[in-house]
Amino acid sequence: MFLLGPVFLIVLTVATSSPIPESRIGLTPAVEPFAGVEYLLPTNVVPQKYVLLLKPNLSGNFSFSGEMTMTVQLTTTTNTITFHTNDINVTSVTVTNIDTASVVQVTNQVYLETYDFYTLTLESEVAVGNYEIYVAYTGYHKDDMRGFYRSSYVNSNDQKVWLASTHFEPVRARRAFPCFDEPALKAKFQISIAVPEGLHAISNMPVNSSAINDGEDGLDWYHFEETPMPMSTYLVAFVVSDFEKTSEDSVSIWHRPGLQSQALYSASVSPKIIDKLEEFTGVSYHLPKMDEVAVPDFSAGAMENWGLVTYRERALLFEEGVSTSSYKQSIATVIAHEFGHQWFGDLVGPRWWSYLWLNEGFATYFEFFATALVETTWRLEEQFVVREVHSAFSADASEWSHPMTYDVYSPTEIGNIFDSISYAKG
Ligand SMILES: [Zn+2]
Repeated sequence: MFLLGPVFLIVLTVATSSPIPESRIGLTPAVEPFAGVEYLLPTNVVPQKYVLLLKPNLSGNFSFSGEMTMTVQLTTTTNTITFHTNDINVTSVTVTNIDTASVVQVTNQVYLETYDFYTLTLESEVAVGNYEIYVAYTGYHKDDMRGFYRSSYVNSNDQKVWLASTHFEPVRARRAFPCFDEPALKAKFQISIAVPEGLHAISNMPVNSSAINDGEDGLDWYHFEETPMPMSTYLVAFVVSDFEKTSEDSVSIWHRPGLQSQALYSASVSPKIIDKLEEFTGVSYHLPKMDEVAVPDFSAGAMENWGLVTYRERALLFEEGVSTSSYKQSIATVIAHEFGHQWFGDLVGPRWWSYLWLNEGFATYFEFFATALVETTWRLEEQFVVREVHSAFSADASEWSHPMTYDVYSPTEIGNIFDSISYAKG
C-alpha cells in the first residue's frame, strides 16, 4: 500500500519539534499492546481454495449478496471451525466432509465481535481431512473506503454514477466475504461477479471470456480464472464500474469514461517498470495481466492487489499541460511502489503483520530505484536520500518509533505500523 502525506507528516512534524525523550533510550512502543495472540485464528483449519459468487447492488439499497465455498483441510480432530467475518450477515451454512461426501451438522453459530470470529460448532468431533464450508450471506456497500465499498462520480450529464471497489489491507477482506483473513493463510481464489447491464467487473485474474453470458434478472456473470497460485486474502480485489480502459501491452488503465488522454502516461510507463523489475529480480511477473484502476474515492494512495492495483485518481492520471511535473514523478514512483509489491508482498510475503517492513521497505526502495531505470534523468537515487533516508532518521528519533519487527495483533495495532518506520526505515 502507498500512503499519502498525512501519516508521514504527522510523524515528521512532531519529530522535528520534539527533543528526544529520555524514554527513547528504552524504545517507547508505538502503541501499547492491549491484546495478544487471541486475535489469531486457530491453526488446525487450513484454507485451500475459495470459490466466491458475488452479486453487488449499486442501484438499490447497496445490500449485496454472496455465496462462498471454502475448501479447508483440518489438521486435527475438532468440533469447531472458526473463520473471519465483519459486517456481513450469514444466512446459511453447510459443512461437508469431502472425503466421505457427507454433510456435517452445524449445531451452533456464534459471532465474536471483538475478534471478528465466526465460529461453527459441529454435531461431534470430526476427523482430520478435507472439508467444504458453504456460506451464503449478505453485506453492505458502505462508503467508508474499506471492504467492498461504494464510490461514485458525476458524469458529463451531471448524473451521479455508482461503482463498487475494494480495499482489504490489512483486515477488511472479511467484510466482503467470509475467509481466513490472515496473510499467511494463502489459498487459491475463483471469483464470479454478476453485474447489471452497463457495468462490468474486473478482478485479480482475467475473465474467462467464454463464460460471460446473460444470467437471471438481466445480470451478466463475469467468471474469472482461478488464481494460478495461493494468495493472501488482503490482496484479493474486484471493481464493478462503467469505466473505460486504456491499454498498452498486457497493462490496462481503467478510468472514468472520457479520460483516456490522462491515462496515456501511466499506460506507457507501467509496462516499462514491469520489464525493469523482471530484469532486476530475475523473476517474471507471475499473473497473465495487470489492471490499474483510478478510483474516485480511495483511502490510501494506492494498493497493490495482485494483478489489479487500485489508485486514488490523482495517483494515476496525468493531464499533459495541466498536471505538474512533480505529479508525473509521483505517478511513476507510486506505480513502481505497487509493482514492487507484486514481487515483494504478493508473490512472497511475511507470515504476519509484525514483518510489514519487509513488504513496505522493498516497495519504497523500488519506488525510487525501479523508476530510475525508466525515467533516467530525474535523479531519483539522490531524492531517495532526502525523502526516505531523512524521513527514517526523523521518525526513528521520535518517541513514537518502534522496532521494525514489532508484535501487533489487533486491527488497531496493525494499522498503526503503516508508518515511516516500516516504509522509509524498512
Ligand atoms: Zn506499499
